[in-house]
Formats: sequence, structure tokens, C-alpha cells
Amino acid sequence: MEPMVRLRAASRAQRIHDYLEFRADRLDIPCMLCGEKPAIRSQTRYAYETPWDDEPVAKYFCSDDCGDTYMYEEPWAYFMCHSCDREICEQNPWNGWHIQYRMVDGEQICLKCYRERLLDEGLEFERERLEDGEIPGMFFSYGNLEAKGAGYEGVPGFTDYHVDSQQRADAFRKKALELLDGGRKVIIGYERLAIGGGEGYVTLMAKDCDKAGKAEAGQSGAR
Ligand SMILES: [Zn+2]
Ligand SMILES: [Zn+2]
Repeated sequence: MEPMVRLRAASRAQRIHDYLEFRADRLDIPCMLCGEKPAIRSQTRYAYETPWDDEPVAKYFCSDDCGDTYMYEEPWAYFMCHSCDREICEQNPWNGWHIQYRMVDGEQICLKCYRERLLDEGLEFERERLEDGEIPGMFFSYGNLEAKGAGYEGVPGFTDYHVDSQQRADAFRKKALELLDGGRKVIIGYERLAIGGGEGYVTLMAKDCDKAGKAEAGQSGAR
């Protein structure tokens, strides 16, 4: 073959190859953001709608731009949890006001990772917020199942505690700090909170509360 002919054949083969590749990469669904161009397989992103989901959901886009806009702009922005390395929606799509992350040490942590750390360590790492007048806690399943499963028990007089005044809030925080100072693991379960957090019901729980109490009683009795 003449060199020119060979070149043309090669370039034609390349074009066919590119076209087939493009066609294979093109999906039969429109881009989830612009809705105009077809989504491209290699632009697919995977993200979790809630931290509790086992599997991510595929999101289909035509381009990087469309993907970034969809993922990182309001209202349904996604964030990377620094603890589990998953992209998760900042707000629960089924329950819009429910924020699905907490800031810990300046980083966004998903509620699932936050819950694991809380159950494991108690809220010593949130002590500063407690001292600053906040009531740092979270919603568990009805009856605070996860907390009970991890060995926490309700602190008598501070379960389903109605916070409706500064005084009541301060008494609750004081009790929590007292238990922390006593070396106990403490957590707070939100029972019902008014949107905005000004008022609600909360439950104070501590780990090995009874045992620690009995041990102390035993020690003082032996003296
Ligand atoms: Zn698009
Ligand atoms: Zn996480």
C-alpha cells in the first residue's frame, strides 16, 4: 500500500474505534442534572443518600461539570465523611431538615461514624460543647436501642427529661459533666426536639453507672 493510503486507513480505523468507544460509554438515560445530554458511563458517581445505607446509589451525568454541580451545590450537597471515606448527602432526602453529619475537630463526620465514636468513647470528646451550654446528643432508635446495646443505662431522674428552661438545661448539663468527671462514659439521646432545638426531651445515659455506684458504695463501706 502507498503510505498515504495506509495513513488514511489508520485514521479511519481510529475514528471508528473512537466512535464505538463513545457509543459504549454513552448510556440510554439523560444526565441527571441537565436532562438534555445523554449520561456517560465513565461520569457515573456513587453516593449514599443516608449514612445508614449499605449500598451507594449511582448518579448519572454527561460531564464533570454537571456531576460537580449536582453533587456539591445546594440544596442536596454531598460531603466526604472523613471517617468512612464515603460521599453522603448532607441532608436526609426523605426528611429534609435532618442534617446527616456533625463537625468533630473541624471535620465533617457522618452520623453513623459519629454514633460509633459516641457509643465507643462516650461524649468526652464533646465536653467543650457541653461546657459551652449545648446539649450534644443524637437520635437513636426508639428506646435508645443502640445505646442500651452498648451497655449504657438511663440515669435516674434524667431520662425523657423535659428541657423547657435554661434552668432545666443547666441542671441536665451539670449532671452530665459530673458523671464525666467521675470517669464514666456518658451519652445523651434525643427523644423529641422542637425544630430549632430550643425545647425538647432528652435522656442522659451512662455506662456501668450502677456498677460504678455499687463499687463506690462498697469501697466506702469497707473503709
Ligand atoms: Zn449534563
Ligand atoms: Zn462516616
